[in-house]
Amino acid sequence: MSGRPEILFPLFGSLERLPGIGAKTAKALANLRIETPRDMLFTLPQGIIDRTLRGSVRDAVAPCVVTVEVEVERHAPPLKRARPYVVTVRDAATTFQIVFFHPRDEWIRKQLPLGARRIVSGRIELYDNIARMAHPDYIVAPEDLGDLPEIEPVYPLANGVTQRLMRNAARAVLDRLPQLDEWTDPHLLTREGWPDWSEALRLAHWPRSQEDVRPQAAARRRLAYDELFAHQMTLALARARSRRAAGRPSVGTGQMTSRLRGALPYALTSAQERCLREIEHDLGRPIRMNRLLQGDVGSGKTAVALLALAVAVEAGGQGVLMAPTEILARQHADGLRPLAKAAGIRLEVLTGRDSGQARARLLSDLAEGRIDVLVGTHAVFQKDVEFRDLRLAIVDEQHRFGVAQRLELRSKGCAADVLVMTATPIPRSLALAHYGEMDVSIIDEKPPGRKPVTTALVSADRIDEVVGHLRRAIGEGRRAYWVCPLVDVSEATDLAAAEERYQDFRAALGASHVGMIHGRMAPAEKDAAMARFVSGETSVLVATTVIEVGVNVPEASIMVIERAETFGLAQLHQLRGRVGRGSEKSTCLLMYQPPLTESGRRRLELLRRTEDGFEIAEEDLAMRGAGDVIGTAQSGLPRFRIADAERQTDLMAMAQIDARLLLERDPDLASDRGRAVRTFLWLMRQDEAIRLLGVA
Ligand code: ADP
Ligand code: MG
Repeated sequence: MSGRPEILFPLFGSLERLPGIGAKTAKALANLRIETPRDMLFTLPQGIIDRTLRGSVRDAVAPCVVTVEVEVERHAPPLKRARPYVVTVRDAATTFQIVFFHPRDEWIRKQLPLGARRIVSGRIELYDNIARMAHPDYIVAPEDLGDLPEIEPVYPLANGVTQRLMRNAARAVLDRLPQLDEWTDPHLLTREGWPDWSEALRLAHWPRSQEDVRPQAAARRRLAYDELFAHQMTLALARARSRRAAGRPSVGTGQMTSRLRGALPYALTSAQERCLREIEHDLGRPIRMNRLLQGDVGSGKTAVALLALAVAVEAGGQGVLMAPTEILARQHADGLRPLAKAAGIRLEVLTGRDSGQARARLLSDLAEGRIDVLVGTHAVFQKDVEFRDLRLAIVDEQHRFGVAQRLELRSKGCAADVLVMTATPIPRSLALAHYGEMDVSIIDEKPPGRKPVTTALVSADRIDEVVGHLRRAIGEGRRAYWVCPLVDVSEATDLAAAEERYQDFRAALGASHVGMIHGRMAPAEKDAAMARFVSGETSVLVATTVIEVGVNVPEASIMVIERAETFGLAQLHQLRGRVGRGSEKSTCLLMYQPPLTESGRRRLELLRRTEDGFEIAEEDLAMRGAGDVIGTAQSGLPRFRIADAERQTDLMAMAQIDARLLLERDPDLASDRGRAVRTFLWLMRQDEAIRLLGVA
């Protein structure tokens, strides 16, 4: 696959070669993410305007677009500037007004000569109870009715882009559509009753009824499927490649794992055991593991990770555990070190902070196999970090990384077995889109004895009361997180808000009781603040959302979240997961700024009602978009133009099955269909897939 197939060249040429598009328009179109003729094809009309000729405007329910034949009765040019030019016309049943603002009188008289018959089409509105049509879209003589499109597609627009321009451009691209070989499974086309690609595009761009613009229309479903299939092909290729790449079987001896089990103060839940078995099974096979370990906050993923790492070490190799933040990496290391020690596993930590001699020593220990398990931030994947025999790489809290970053990790030559852990409960349907290239293990059970967290909604008006409770609670020796609002996307404003609370609380609760942690602090400061909270030196930790991911302080039993309505549900769920980890009864207060919108209230109520991350995720999905469940920017999903990843989960599932099956039968995409799919991947700009094919 050396380069883009020639047959696609016209679709990737300059927009300016299309009629009516100059440099300026091309720029305007970029705002609609249209940069090539290809993008034009995949920008579909969102609706239609029905311009079927009617008898009269009388029965029209204004405002709406009508098309009627009229006789021109009277012209009333404006007497004052800023008044409209009014033309009174009569259709079969009534008279109404056609009005023009900033008129060019001459043009109007030519278009609508007194006494003439014309067909006019435009939007009717009621003005002082009189029907009027301002600036008709069309004025034609009755014999030219044919010039008037009966059904007109309505495209999304941007500044400087008109419907006419979009229509003409789309038509021009459709007129030059290359004849591509069909890439879709013919059985699927037949079963679903889908048209071929070019036919689907024509139907989608020239809808004939309201039905045709619904996502359920066959043409649209086919085009949506194409997008999802392209995405799933990329994931399937990544999966196939990592499977084909020979992995080495790592079979443990059971020595370290049994000592670890002995050192753990609890027995694994059956869900943890099951997931561990699935992982061990993968590790033992000669193909590379590519597995997702999904488990709600507090479900005990870390213990599973440690046992899996021990298997890799028992087999004579090394393991790495990567966390998204410095705090979390250090916390993992601190928590795991005693256990590791008990099992005879040499564990070290490496973050971006380590430098100089200490770092150099650590790296040589690693390269020479004197370290068994390395815990760290993404610093562990820097170029100069070499392992003697890396067998297992575990990435914690992966929802912070998208599909693209994960594939990148692989392409960096990480040849080890990979286990990704996420606490974001993703609805099954979306898991396909996000983790389509992975196998999935789910810890669907929490460790026994967890006390439910009591969640309450309070208005921000009652903040004094809340602070009063807080004072009493810390007097009883309890510990609390206080999460400051996400005022703005800019960190600076968040910080100001957090600083203010911090100062308030120091004054109200006693300076020595209150700590603060935020994203701008130096790592050592963060650690120190965290350590003071862990030891109980401070009892209130004012925080921006840096505490969101994974922080584990079992003694903390109160969580207050300010302006909870501005957070995503998944995020709130994560935050709440920071409490309820110890033996004490825990409380989570969701403070909101009144008035709460209807949907805001529903979302917070949902949290109050349940602590089940999966239920929250499913409901969240139903209430909002897929991107938001995971955090829009972090979702890592491609921005589909036609497909709706949330609602067309059936198509996503079909696409995954189809893509995997195709690659099983035709791993090199060498068959007729395989070759068509290669061209298709170029068409769909699946660069990663193309790269994978090139090197497979
Ligand atoms: P997460 O899945 O959110 O990463 P952790 O691994 O941090 O969860 O575990 C949360 C808490 O539960 C920890 O304090 C851990 O020691 C404890 N834990 C894990 N597994 C069990 C278990 N099987 N029984 C009791 N407690 C457990
Ligand atoms: Mg965790």
